[in-house]
Amino acid sequence: MPLSYIQPSIDSPWATYISQVDRVLPYLGPLARWAETLKRPKRALIVDVPIEMDDGRIAHFEGFRVQHSLTRGPGKGGVRYHPDVTLEEVMALSAWMSIKNAAVNLPYGGAKGGIRVDPKQLSLKELEKLTRRYTSEIGIIIGPHQDIPAPDVNTNAQIMAWMMDTYSMNVGATATGVVTGKPLHLGGSLGRVKATGRGVYVTGREAARRIGLDIGSARVAVQGFGNVGSSAAELFGQAGARIVAAQDHTGTIFNGQGFDLALLVPHVKATGGVAGFQGAEALDDESFWDVDCEIVIPAALENQITPARASRLKARLVLEGANGPTGLAADDILAERGILVVPDVICNAGGVTVSYFEWVQDFSSFFWTEDEINVKLDKIMVGALKNIWDTADRHKISLRTATFAVACERILMARQERGLYP
Ligand code: GLU
Repeated sequence: MPLSYIQPSIDSPWATYISQVDRVLPYLGPLARWAETLKRPKRALIVDVPIEMDDGRIAHFEGFRVQHSLTRGPGKGGVRYHPDVTLEEVMALSAWMSIKNAAVNLPYGGAKGGIRVDPKQLSLKELEKLTRRYTSEIGIIIGPHQDIPAPDVNTNAQIMAWMMDTYSMNVGATATGVVTGKPLHLGGSLGRVKATGRGVYVTGREAARRIGLDIGSARVAVQGFGNVGSSAAELFGQAGARIVAAQDHTGTIFNGQGFDLALLVPHVKATGGVAGFQGAEALDDESFWDVDCEIVIPAALENQITPARASRLKARLVLEGANGPTGLAADDILAERGILVVPDVICNAGGVTVSYFEWVQDFSSFFWTEDEINVKLDKIMVGALKNIWDTADRHKISLRTATFAVACERILMARQERGLYP
């Protein structure tokens, strides 16, 4: 029977995820018997988050925490604050976390949370109240051994500090391991802020090498210039690539010679976006997808590469820094056009990998150097991508389906070995 409470809407992230699972079924052998497990979140919590606004009004926000799978370990995945957050979206994002965590072999299930809110409309005090009340409400299912939130779209180290403090106050002990992506002096890890962008770079570097694309002379277009997009851009820049286009919610900029990132990154920090950057010309947003380049990095939100945009893209390589940026139909068009996609579920796994390092360091209260972290991250990402690449070659399937094959086999093997209770 299909789920009664969610009928996937067309092209929604959840519908995309379900189709991605359907595509992997032929490669799961006898484990396919357990595959329905993947199509049902284990647990979904919807909470009301009321706060008193600065002007005295009482405002209510919808909050979610979905634990898609706890089969391989505690839930793990970020929390996003965005006006478009829905239960269906959080279900998909939590499911992609299960796949991502299994793909890099982290001892976690998959979870995700979100609040339907535009945080830019809130004062700092309101943001803190929202975060603390949300944390209290989901406190019944999170914990260092249950489910460990982290930053995602529009959430950051300060929000993680408030979450850690609220949870700790409620349990009566400082519990640093309840969230990752914390500030450094509160049990955060070196390298965590840039880890997702670094993982995008590492998988991009490996994929480029395998298809004979020279990064040193590549032109790169980046959509989303937040934490992920800007960190990836900096690493590609250091490797000699030119970042020729950037787009975010404030606009689109272009410079065929490549931006001076030493000026662009501070400009974005100071003004809140790429718009108005002196060393570039402004483009209309849709033209971003027509820019001459070898590599495109969607590092913003879901469903950005539509079929129409997929038909126009000039790049050879798409590195999915965001979760779910390419819809199913667009994915097929890119494949037909010979454009290689390194899928989100491996490409952006660097963030959660260093989250795992943070969690381990919190438990042992012993902290590693940034070099140690970056070396370990590189090794895990390269090894995971190699395994996925070999699987893709063996079955003649896309990297996305191969990532699902590797991950689903791990999840369903654990499911089978644990057996059904009772
Ligand atoms: N939000 C990030 C992601 O989508 C990181 C999650 C985490 O570190 O738990 O992978």
